[in-house]
Amino acid sequence: LCTGSGVGERRRKFLVLVNPFSGKKQGNQICETFVKPMFEHANIEPVVLVTERAGHATDLMKNDSGTDLYQYDAIIAVGGDGLLYEMMQGAQLRSDKAEFFDRVAFGIVPAGSGNGLAASVSHGCDEFDATITNVFVICKGEAKKSDLSLYQTAAGNSYTSFLSLSWGIVADVDLESEVLRALGSMRFDVYAVWRMIALKQYRAKLSYLPAGVEIGAMPPIDQPVDGNWTTIEDNFLCFWALQTTHASQGMFTSPASRMNDGKFHIYVVRGKASRLNLLTSFLAFEDGSHVKQKHMEIIECTAFRLEPLSDNSHLDIDGEEVEYGAIQAQVQAGAWKVFY
Ligand code: ADP
Ligand code: MG
Repeated sequence: LCTGSGVGERRRKFLVLVNPFSGKKQGNQICETFVKPMFEHANIEPVVLVTERAGHATDLMKNDSGTDLYQYDAIIAVGGDGLLYEMMQGAQLRSDKAEFFDRVAFGIVPAGSGNGLAASVSHGCDEFDATITNVFVICKGEAKKSDLSLYQTAAGNSYTSFLSLSWGIVADVDLESEVLRALGSMRFDVYAVWRMIALKQYRAKLSYLPAGVEIGAMPPIDQPVDGNWTTIEDNFLCFWALQTTHASQGMFTSPASRMNDGKFHIYVVRGKASRLNLLTSFLAFEDGSHVKQKHMEIIECTAFRLEPLSDNSHLDIDGEEVEYGAIQAQVQAGAWKVFY
C-alpha cells in the first residue's frame, strides 16, 4: 500500500474521534484495521479518542474543552454523519471559529448508518470500498476549502450543517422510521412505501435567493425578505436542500452539487404530483436520474427560508431532528477544509 512516502516530510498528527455505537458498532474495528495501519504508511500519527456519550464530540470541539485542538493538523470522524454534526455544533460556538476552521482540517471515515459526506467523498462506492477509499483520501488527498451552511430557527437557535435539510416526506421517512431500527437500512424503504400510501400534503412558504444574486447579511428570520428573493407558497410533498452529491450511500441525490460550489440545490416535488411521480423519484434517487423528471424542480440558491404552514412534518438537518417552525439558512462558502 503506497499512501505517500512521507520521507523528509513532517509527521502529521491527527485526532481520530471514534463513535463506538455508530451503525453496526464497527468504529473501533475500522480504526484498528484501516485507519491506524494506513496512517502509519502515510506518516500520520493518530491520536484516537473514543466518544463516551452523546454530546461528547460537541463538548470536545469547544474552546473550554481542555484540549488544545491546534496541536492537530486534522480531526477525523470515524462514525456516521451524526458524529460530525455533533462536532460542528461544538465548533460553531468557538470564539476563534474562523481561525480554527482555517488551521484544522476535517475528514470522515464511514462507520454509521447514515454516511452522506463519506459517500460524497468516495462517490458512492459500496460500503467496504468506501471505508478504504475515505481513509486513502485522508492519507493522500488534500484538505480543500468546502462549504458549510448556517441555519437559524424562529426559536433563536443556530445549527451548522454540511449536508442537508429535509422537510416533508423525506424528513418523515428519515426520522419516523427510527421505530423500525431493527430492520437496518431497509427501514427507510419500508417506511417510505407506507408514507406514500398514507400520503400527506405539506404546506409552506418558501423563499430563496437565487444563486448568482449578491447577498449582504441574512435578514432576521422575523423580518420579510427583500426584492432579490423569490417566494412561493404551495403544497409540497418533498423538500430537500442538499450541499453534497450523496445524502447517504446509494443515494445520488444531488449530482450537480460540489463541495465548494457555494450553493444549495433544493429538490422540490409540489403537492400536485401523483403517488407514482413520487415513487419514481424515490427509486431514481439511487442513480441520480430524478433530475430529469418533470415533476422534480431543482432550485439553485445561496440562501433560503422555509416557513411551514402545516404542522404535520419534521425538520431534519444532516439526519438530526431540530425544532419545528420557520427556518432559514445561508451557505458559508469555503468555511471549512475537508479531505476529498
Ligand atoms: P449513525 O449513522 O449510526 O446514527 P452516528 O455516528 O451518526 O451514527 O451517531 C449517532 C449518534 O450517536 C450521535 O448523534 C451521537 O450523539 C451519538 N453518540 C456518540 N458517541 C456515543 C456514545 N459513546 N454512546 C452513545 N451515543 C453516542
Ligand atoms: Mg456544495
